[in-house]
Amino acid sequence: MSFWQSLRQSLMLNCREVSELLSASLDRRLKLRERFALRQHLKLCRDCSNFSKSIRVLEQAFRNWLRGSSSERLSPEARDRIRQELERRSGRNS
Ligand SMILES: [Zn+2]
Repeated sequence: MSFWQSLRQSLMLNCREVSELLSASLDRRLKLRERFALRQHLKLCRDCSNFSKSIRVLEQAFRNWLRGSSSERLSPEARDRIRQELERRSGRNS
């Protein structure tokens, strides 16, 4: 698949895929292509845009909570909680 073909495909993420990418972003650094696709979708989709903001707020809150501890990563419990939110949401949209 050419770069441009895969780029075009990336631009056609649906809301569920966006939820999945947001979820993945808690575990790993997204690839450039994924971040780009996500950003394009968020520009066009107010629903996902609001959701990604609330995810970021949640993540930031957990990071603040973890500050002072040696771990900079989200605790498994914190990730589970965010993931539950994501699943609840993608279930509702399907
Ligand atoms: Zn969307």
